[in-house]
Amino acid sequence: MNHETDAVKVYFFPFLGGGHQIPMIDTARVFAKHGVTSTILTTPSNAAQFQNSITRDQKSNLPIIIYTLTTPENTQLPEIGMSAGPMTDTSVLLEPVKQLLLQHRPDCIVVDMFHRWAGDIIGELKVPMIVFNGNGCFPRCVLENMRKYVVFENLSSDSESFIVPGLPDRVEMTRSQVPSFRRNKSEFTDRMTQIEEKSLGIVINSFYDLEPVYADYIRNELGKKRWLVGPVSLYNSSVEDKKERGKQPTIDEQSCLNWLNSKKSNSVLYISFGSVACLPMKQLKEIAYGLEASDQPFIWVVGKIFNSSKSDDQTCSENWVLDEFEKRMKEMDKGLILRGWAPQLLILEHDAVGGFMTHCGWNSTLEGVCAGVPLITWPLSAEQFINEKLVTDVLRIGVQVGSREWGSWEEERKELVGREKVEFAVKKLMVESEEVEEMRRRVKSIAEKAKRAVEEGGSSYGDIDALIQELKNLQNGKDV
Ligand code: UDP
Repeated sequence: MNHETDAVKVYFFPFLGGGHQIPMIDTARVFAKHGVTSTILTTPSNAAQFQNSITRDQKSNLPIIIYTLTTPENTQLPEIGMSAGPMTDTSVLLEPVKQLLLQHRPDCIVVDMFHRWAGDIIGELKVPMIVFNGNGCFPRCVLENMRKYVVFENLSSDSESFIVPGLPDRVEMTRSQVPSFRRNKSEFTDRMTQIEEKSLGIVINSFYDLEPVYADYIRNELGKKRWLVGPVSLYNSSVEDKKERGKQPTIDEQSCLNWLNSKKSNSVLYISFGSVACLPMKQLKEIAYGLEASDQPFIWVVGKIFNSSKSDDQTCSENWVLDEFEKRMKEMDKGLILRGWAPQLLILEHDAVGGFMTHCGWNSTLEGVCAGVPLITWPLSAEQFINEKLVTDVLRIGVQVGSREWGSWEEERKELVGREKVEFAVKKLMVESEEVEEMRRRVKSIAEKAKRAVEEGGSSYGDIDALIQELKNLQNGKDV
């Protein structure tokens, strides 16, 4: 570790929600391991979700603390916990952040891009700012070139495909796969662009060998400074840290691991759609029937269920289908259904897990890659359809289930993925074949590279030290 960095103070201001908060906390922790004094700014309810891991770090003498932001009385503090969406307005935190920055000037503040209002105030106070964008280099480049070059109104329909211009690979998309707020000019995207323009650069949870041409593209073609510091999930080395990442698991991890211990290597499919996705019961039924027909062992984390305006009778009978399915799978020792928060890192790295059906959230994608398991891609929202292209077309480490339509997690999805598609994708990935063997070899080789990236001498390790050095130069009044 670089012991000359003791004096560098960095504030980390994560977004108030799972998919962005989790990697930012890990980033703050790894910077502390590199000698930076890390302070995490968050609300009391969000602090509770990762307090234990920070306490463990403090016991190991790492220079890291949590600063809880309190808002003036009678102000509605967003109690949005793990379900914050990118559109959630967090500007109520503006005043406490401003006061903090006025009192204690850090050498730098790392801000999640979803705090899109924060750029103005931090700029005014002249505190050096770095943006954390929550996804990788590939989606960053695709989104940028789509914003610059694609005229969505010129497409005849949502299903007409277009090529995203100017990229190293041929990336073909349809309008239906693009987030609705990216299809037209919107204040939301403008603000995120502005905050980045005001920053020193971007911290990215990725590693060079995963997407080298896109890491270079960001620097050389988009002209942005970027530091690739991940995969940050790999900095969780203890079972405790892995188990409690993001939230306290609501599942007894030991019984889950015991079940996995009874299964053959690479035989189990892990299924999860991340921290915010909300699928309707009729979609869950299709998954259940598809899984049963595929006859492959599985662990399925059933997340939040979309509550439509159906009558109670109908909802009850649908719940019953899932309950019956769960009972049957348990009796046959075929599958586990987990309800609540699962210890994803522990499950994924278990030797019995041989595939991951994922919604392609950036973290889950990286975590699957780091565990060396091929993926079944089932994108739903955010930039997940772009991540799917990286997985299946560029890296060739996964198969698509056939999800075609982007949807916001607050709305009921129009499209259902039918049971036969589920069965087909599961069999394709979990029944051994030369094609799957190839995928497995490729993903395992990327996983090895990921581990090397975060070790001393690795690319991400080096990027962290390089960023710290830049901040020291800034501190000393040198140009960076
Ligand atoms: N996660 C977890 N247990 C769960 C669900 C999610 O640990 O039951 C973690 C997962 O490991 C990942 C994050 O939550 O780090 C989800 O982030 P991702 O970018 O994949 O998706 P999002 O939740 O933002 O849609």
